[in-house]
Amino acid sequence: FLSLPLQAKMSRPVQARRLEGIDKNIWVEFVKLAATYSKVNLGQGFPDFPVPDFLQEALRRALGENHMLHQYTRAFGHPPLVKVLAQFFGKLLGREIDPMSNVMVTVGAYQALFCCFQAFVDEGDEVIIIEPFFDCYMPMVKMAGGTPVFIPLRLKAPKDGKLMSSADWQLDPAELASKFSARTKAIVINSPNNPLGKVFSRGELELIAELCVKHDTLCISDEVYEWLVYDGRQHIRIASLPGMWDRTVIIGSAGKTFSATGWKVGWTVGPDRLLQHVRTVHQNSVYHCATIAQEAVAQCFQRELTLYGKPDSYFVQLPRELQQKRDLLIQGLVAVGMKPVIPEGTYFLVADISEFKSDVPDVPNSDEPYDYRFAKWMMKNKGLAAIPLSAFYSEAHKNSPTNFIRFCFAKEEATLKAANDILQKWKQEKSS
Ligand code: PMP
Repeated sequence: FLSLPLQAKMSRPVQARRLEGIDKNIWVEFVKLAATYSKVNLGQGFPDFPVPDFLQEALRRALGENHMLHQYTRAFGHPPLVKVLAQFFGKLLGREIDPMSNVMVTVGAYQALFCCFQAFVDEGDEVIIIEPFFDCYMPMVKMAGGTPVFIPLRLKAPKDGKLMSSADWQLDPAELASKFSARTKAIVINSPNNPLGKVFSRGELELIAELCVKHDTLCISDEVYEWLVYDGRQHIRIASLPGMWDRTVIIGSAGKTFSATGWKVGWTVGPDRLLQHVRTVHQNSVYHCATIAQEAVAQCFQRELTLYGKPDSYFVQLPRELQQKRDLLIQGLVAVGMKPVIPEGTYFLVADISEFKSDVPDVPNSDEPYDYRFAKWMMKNKGLAAIPLSAFYSEAHKNSPTNFIRFCFAKEEATLKAANDILQKWKQEKSS
């Protein structure tokens, strides 16, 4: 042993094969750039406004109430939280939900997604993902050994003179049907959708549901923005459509629901037949989520249950406030010459930046798409941060489209005003 060199370096490859090709992540680069250059950051998707008072009070109460809330609780979800989630989703879905077998709490929606892919996807299984998509779906499917199969939402030209809407991004029914086969294990639905803000219509969800039933496919339904829908639109839960409860896992997030993304409390709701496998992954990986956060979220859901549909409900107030913020940002973007796509839901919107092609210098010998170059140029020259939309596409479809960037408008009025000041100044520079 003593004859070994003191600093014997490892020479064998260390990376597991499942990590091949998934090591790059847009957030690392853009968070760094935004920290260096941007004055106003509308890139990353989280609120900068205070959490609601009742959330803070719930946490304070939980801290003072019972010292056992500092200890482990039930591994699959703190009983008060799974009970109130069961009541709430029972009401929303119009069916009996058993708190112990139909609900499981996770460390944010992220872990819920991870557990689902690990629980259901085998080597060789295909998983359909609708583009543009929340960027973690693809690496998570790959890590589980599956093959992602992509289907893009295609932009239908809006009526002359009208602003585009996220509803103009549509699935081609024949193209969607062509992606389903005996190899398809699951489809991932994200409505309301990050990054477009699209809220899938009943017709679109029925089409997906029909294909799921026909091909005996699972549905992983990421509904973290379920309360953020605008202009009187309605969020429809695919699990409520005929034949879908039995094959769907609904995923939600207290981070998005109560504007507290740092809390990392999420959940899965679905039939025991599916959730039993999700529980197996959870118990062999994360095992347990912070008790005190679960207790406080449970209290907040209790409050919402009592106020359901009333003006004081946070689920009524939050979308109303965000819709105003959305409209404020849209005004600024239109003024400078961008073409925003009005989102029906979420706190994101994308805007067409084709207008600026001549302002952004070409980078010789670079295959960096235009939206990446534009976003970096805008950060460095205008101090405003946003995220290129092509980051939400698969590698094969990276180049279609590359003329959009994504903004997050879950920001304080002062932040949005500062963004609009930048846009106003930019507009003046353009016209002078
Ligand atoms: N799904 C979507 C569509 C998201 O946008 C996010 C967060 N950006 C998540 C899941 C993850 O949510 P959480 O913070 O609860 O893990």
